[in-house]
Amino acid sequence: MSGFSVTLPSGRVWIPKFVQAIDQNKCIGCGRCFKVCGRDVLAMIGLDEEGLPVEEGEDYEKQVMAIVHPENCVGCEACAKICPKKCYTHAPA
Ligand code: SF4
Ligand code: SF4
Repeated sequence: MSGFSVTLPSGRVWIPKFVQAIDQNKCIGCGRCFKVCGRDVLAMIGLDEEGLPVEEGEDYEKQVMAIVHPENCVGCEACAKICPKKCYTHAPA
């Protein structure tokens, strides 16, 4: 088998799919994905009228989820499963 996979104690093979992108046009900033991710990958950010990130503490037009520490992702896909707007893209390593 090519790519990164994990053999579970049961002997089953699991292929993690790591977070690649969040479609911020679709994101409604509900925060559900943030609550289920236990790996400190995600953070809510503010966007201005043009859809560009604002500095922390500045006024924003809209709040959306962002991938701030992709290196922490373990590929569990819990964020994608809970997202009501199907914002997430995941891929194997
Ligand atoms: S796949 Fe799992 S670890 Fe990675 S961002 Fe989503 S919830 Fe967090
Ligand atoms: S669950 Fe989906 S819609 Fe809600 S904040 Fe996360 S990415 Fe945005």
